[in-house]
Amino acid sequence: MSVKTGFDLKLFRNIGIAAHIDAGKTTTTERILYYTGRIHKIGEVHEGAATMDWMEQERERGITITAAVTTANWKHSGTGVEHRINIIDTPGHVDFTIEVERSMRVLDGAVAVFDASQGVEPQSETVWRQADKYRVPRIAFANKMDKTGADIWLVINTMKERLGAKPVLMQLPIGREDTFKGIIDVLRQKAYLYGNDLGTDIKEVEIPEDMKAQAAEYFEKLVEAAADYDENIMMKFLEGEKPTEEELIRAIRKGTIAIEIFPVFLGSALKNKGVQLLLDGVVDFLPSPLDIPPIKGKTESGEEVERPADPNAPLAALAFKIMADPYVGRLTFIRVYSGTLKSGSYVQNTTKGKKERVARLLQMHANHREEVEELKAGELGAVVGLKETITGDSLVGDGDEPIILESIEIPEPVIDLAIEPKTKADQDKLGVALSRLGEEDPTFRVSTDPETGQTIISGMGELHLEIIVDRLKREFKVDANVGKPQVAYRETITRPVDVEGKFVRQSGGRGQYGHVKIKAEPLGRGSGFEFINAIVGGVVPREYIPAVQ
Ligand code: GDP
Repeated sequence: MSVKTGFDLKLFRNIGIAAHIDAGKTTTTERILYYTGRIHKIGEVHEGAATMDWMEQERERGITITAAVTTANWKHSGTGVEHRINIIDTPGHVDFTIEVERSMRVLDGAVAVFDASQGVEPQSETVWRQADKYRVPRIAFANKMDKTGADIWLVINTMKERLGAKPVLMQLPIGREDTFKGIIDVLRQKAYLYGNDLGTDIKEVEIPEDMKAQAAEYFEKLVEAAADYDENIMMKFLEGEKPTEEELIRAIRKGTIAIEIFPVFLGSALKNKGVQLLLDGVVDFLPSPLDIPPIKGKTESGEEVERPADPNAPLAALAFKIMADPYVGRLTFIRVYSGTLKSGSYVQNTTKGKKERVARLLQMHANHREEVEELKAGELGAVVGLKETITGDSLVGDGDEPIILESIEIPEPVIDLAIEPKTKADQDKLGVALSRLGEEDPTFRVSTDPETGQTIISGMGELHLEIIVDRLKREFKVDANVGKPQVAYRETITRPVDVEGKFVRQSGGRGQYGHVKIKAEPLGRGSGFEFINAIVGGVVPREYIPAVQ
């Protein structure tokens, strides 16, 4: 099948679902895919082959590190207009900060999921700060409203206190904890009751008598927040006239896209409450590719240029994820910022200075993939056929001015392990496998220790490297032992001799030369971090280094 994507860009929402582990990102994503009609039974995301969580290990631990993009369609419940929602998967584990960063880089808006029984947690803050850094407009979803201890005010207050954010409450809960059974839409002054936990029985009802005053109070607050973005709204309100639904949406949308206010939705993904209304919120308040500033790039002479989200402008695309695919080989996930990328065309990888051919273009849905002929400005998808392109590389049209786009900051790995193949056969495969993994993941590095000759793998955390070792075994059939690297020590002068005797052993070995105490610092290994900060002296020449280990 080969079809043209024919959506109006105004109807696109490229979003991430950002949350720290356990807040309910997987469940919420799964429900979103269910309601957008792309999967047919709840639970398929967990069980199926083409899922958001790809690898067994990720699934077991409930983390998702494959920042692929899933394409879904959603008809707004109010307007009935169909929208295209591309969900860019963002991981919640701090080890994979780079994965969060690169997904933040290519999405236009995000849904921040919080556990309503916990409020904003420390790790939610990390994700929030990253979204701030990349100027990503957000709406919040207070999930788990059915859980003991769930409290929407806890979410609102911790958003203010911990995040310094200005939340705008869009909904009020009817019932609480295990009696949570409905949602009041503050903006539209409508109420919905859920007859079951399956999301199949939802009734629009009158706002309950005992909640009318509260609903009116929060409507006023919402109008106040909207008035900051539209003068007419406050005037109307003061004159006793009700601003229209469209006016309020337009104003709140403006404030949200300016990243000044954050509409807050609530529900229980597990109990199928509130997810459809959240999707309407995504459409109402998060930006389309036309609402975000044009991508910036640099020409060869260093001049800064902008490329608009216009399918007829010169092509500018960014690779943000490489994945090995069992069916078609290497997949390069890209976002097209400007112009149109066509299947069968040639592109220049300006970062590498190489010309590459786009063999096929794919869009991934929750349970199937679709071959497309082109990807227009604002769209995301996967390219088959690129051999040299890696995460962060810029692509422009063949013959176009070779600009390089603002890229993804790739942090230095912080932890090292030594890796040894178990057998000779494993040894032959190990090098190839490691270099493939290194191409996929820019925060994973492989090196040889010049002192010990060991092969060292470096990554963003222990879990990151564990997953790599697990992938080596399952995808590449390479068995390897890993362990702490042997270390060659460098010794550093730390204090004059007058404190001799009181010196505290911190790590590694230590020795004594002349008038100074010295302590050994493992050369460039992760374990030496805090230690390195404490060093005040200089480095002792190599010839004085005693043999340690
Ligand atoms: P993730 O780590 O953010 O992807 O979180 P998951 O979606 O895997 O959810 C973590 C845990 O919270 C799982 O045990 C879910 O069943 C549970 N959970 C998710 N959403 C809800 C909810 O709305 N209510 C309740 N009570 N539990 C939920």
